[in-house]
Amino acid sequence: MPRPSRPELDPDAVAELRAIYAAIESRPVHRDCTLRTGCCHFRLTGRTPQVTKAEALYAAKGVRASGRSTVKPHSDGACPLLGSNGRCTIYEHRPFGCRTHFCAEAGGPYVRKEVADLIQRLEALDERLGHHDGSRPFVPALEEAMGK
Ligand code: SF4
Repeated sequence: MPRPSRPELDPDAVAELRAIYAAIESRPVHRDCTLRTGCCHFRLTGRTPQVTKAEALYAAKGVRASGRSTVKPHSDGACPLLGSNGRCTIYEHRPFGCRTHFCAEAGGPYVRKEVADLIQRLEALDERLGHHDGSRPFVPALEEAMGK
């Protein structure tokens, strides 16, 4: 029996996602991130980024671009994409939640009204792609997008 094809984002979806991520970076919301990576330690923070389907597929694309075909969990409960050097291994492909959630020392997370329009664009993109389940926790959504 042929293997089911891996879901992929079409070029328009990739362009929209990149535009949304670029829009966050251009917002004048000051945060002082010094790459402490505390926000990547989900077990410590008790929080996990929520991602749309398109974001999960884009993150999976980043994982594959880094030469991996799977992601392995960290025994300490950190994000599986946190590298041994303490850096995100898919930085350019990291989800919206990773771009808007900051630890208290860095200034705290963005408030919803600062990014509500971009969240709506992410949701609209999923709707256009036929994904109606809403956002999900990052790791299982990524594993699914990786075809696990
Ligand atoms: S995707 Fe990157 S920035 Fe986001 S939690 Fe994982 S390691 Fe941290």
